[in-house]
Amino acid sequence: MKPFSLFLAIFIFFIPSSVILNASSNVILNTKGGVYIHKISNDKLTPDAFLDNQQLLTISYKDKSYLLYGIPYGMKLGKNNINIMIDDNSYNLHFIVKPKFFDVQNIIVDKKYIKPSLENKNRIDTERRNLKVAKDYWYNNIPDLSFIIPADGITTGRFGTKRFYNGEEGNPHNGLDIGAKKGTLIIAPSGGKIILTGNYYYNGKFILLDHGKGLKSIFIHLDEILVKKGQVVSKGENIGKIGNTGKSSGPHLHWSLLLNKTYINPEYFLSNQIIDYFSLKVE
Ligand SMILES: [Zn+2]
Repeated sequence: MKPFSLFLAIFIFFIPSSVILNASSNVILNTKGGVYIHKISNDKLTPDAFLDNQQLLTISYKDKSYLLYGIPYGMKLGKNNINIMIDDNSYNLHFIVKPKFFDVQNIIVDKKYIKPSLENKNRIDTERRNLKVAKDYWYNNIPDLSFIIPADGITTGRFGTKRFYNGEEGNPHNGLDIGAKKGTLIIAPSGGKIILTGNYYYNGKFILLDHGKGLKSIFIHLDEILVKKGQVVSKGENIGKIGNTGKSSGPHLHWSLLLNKTYINPEYFLSNQIIDYFSLKVE
């Protein structure tokens, strides 16, 4: 081989792999709150898939079908498997949950959120039931997985952070916090249907937006809600305004993303990361 063609061979060999590395360097999807993506067929006719009778997100991309499974925060590290059903056939899927570092944050909130009164406990129970019904709802719409950021502001909290409220350990943070001044507009990060709104004890004013097939956004602590239950909204449409209602310590938007009723990291759906993962990594 001539030196030039050797150089060319090395060049050709290295360029594609470095493209893959660069595109996925900040994406560690197989982690707690991540998404396990598995190609289920070389056909764009997407079959329905179920895990313990719960339907999962299946979607087609470039004439192939994929399954997207939201990895619960509580799932153990290392090798895991899930047993899914497609057309009465059972498949055992294996994947590795990789470790990821999560920060610690200390937050000060009104103490009524740490020890609610008996009356408020009843209210909280009713609100939890309403939220469960909305989380269980299946909207048979193909979601657009290329999300945009729902508000301009600074990131003040990330998914998975270990949280202490007034010194007491609470649940890990299940979304993304965007700090901005009260009244800042919130837009739909992807299209969907509004399936619940309200003014709840912990959430304050909130919106639950169903993107379809088990992928849902919830926006909480709002100052104003600009949409109604049942309304279908497009990506980029105004849906509310940032506020400081409910268990909040300053004006900000808390955005959570649910997939198969599991809280996942919304940041993975921004900047085309899921689409990049489809086109570069999945086999
Ligand atoms: Zn938050």
